[in-house]
Amino acid sequence: MDGRALAQRIRAQVAEEARSLGHVGFATVLVGDDAASEIYIRLKHDAATAAGIDAQDVRLPATIAEDDLLARVAELNASDDVDALLVQTPLPDHLDEERIIRTLDPLKDVDGFHPWNAGELYLGRPQLVPATPIGIMALLTEYRIELDGAHAVVIGRSDIVGKPIAHLLLHANATVTLCHTHTHDLARHTLDADVLVVAAGRPAVVTPDMVKTQSAVVDVGINRTDAGVVGDVDEGAADVAAYLTPVPGGVGPMTVACVLQNAIRCARYRRTEIPHSAR
Ligand code: NAP
Repeated sequence: MDGRALAQRIRAQVAEEARSLGHVGFATVLVGDDAASEIYIRLKHDAATAAGIDAQDVRLPATIAEDDLLARVAELNASDDVDALLVQTPLPDHLDEERIIRTLDPLKDVDGFHPWNAGELYLGRPQLVPATPIGIMALLTEYRIELDGAHAVVIGRSDIVGKPIAHLLLHANATVTLCHTHTHDLARHTLDADVLVVAAGRPAVVTPDMVKTQSAVVDVGINRTDAGVVGDVDEGAADVAAYLTPVPGGVGPMTVACVLQNAIRCARYRRTEIPHSAR
């Protein structure tokens, strides 16, 4: 499943929507100088700028006091120039990440991390959903993978990938199994998976002998090894599955494109389409 090609099309669509909206403002807040976070912010900014979205790069020192960060977030919440807002995680240890995320305006919460957005997803009324799971669903739709009645197995239960993708698959009428480090006999579950989503952050957590013949496998993992960047699924799985996302070039580009898609959604919320009970 080619994430690069689909992501390119989504980005072109986003650019068209940004043009028709006139102005879309997207602010990112980066606290400190975590190297991986710098890369993620740069990717999002480059993509936003290319799509005609007005990206604002707020950089704050690693030593910032929590109240000062909260005040900055409140300012961005109130700013008319900002439709979409994210605070890059992880934050330095002295900052209470949960408290900061809770402070975001839920309708500007482009990452979909605010408890209101997580709750709406849980209740089957997805509003702003984290970009990676949205990107995975878009890939499965693009390749016409049957989800209704299928057995979908997700490895990983993070708030960013595992839990939200499990909910989206459930909404699509799949029968969902959610696996984690306490799961006994992982292969017993994966071998029965028509759709397997792997987001563990461990190279080769899924080997070819764990994959059901003719299934669809989505490899979310990004692991930096001596051999370069690899996913969570051994490449040999391609010989067994009908579909597999490559790493790189699968889920990664989709995540960036879907952040932009969420920014457009935020802009629409601010103009007309405010979901009731959000404010
Ligand atoms: P995370 O917060 O570290 O969560 C990993 C999850 O995998 C945990 O629930 C953990 O179980 C489970 N797990 C780890 N090892 C396992 C094993 N051997 N067997 C079964 N379950 C196992 O990671 P994350 O943020 O969800 O990210 C997962 C991976 O996706 C990382 O490589 C990350 O870099 C990548 N990622 C990629 C994108 C993209 O755009 N491509 C976006 C986000 C993340 P416990 O809960 O029991 O600990």
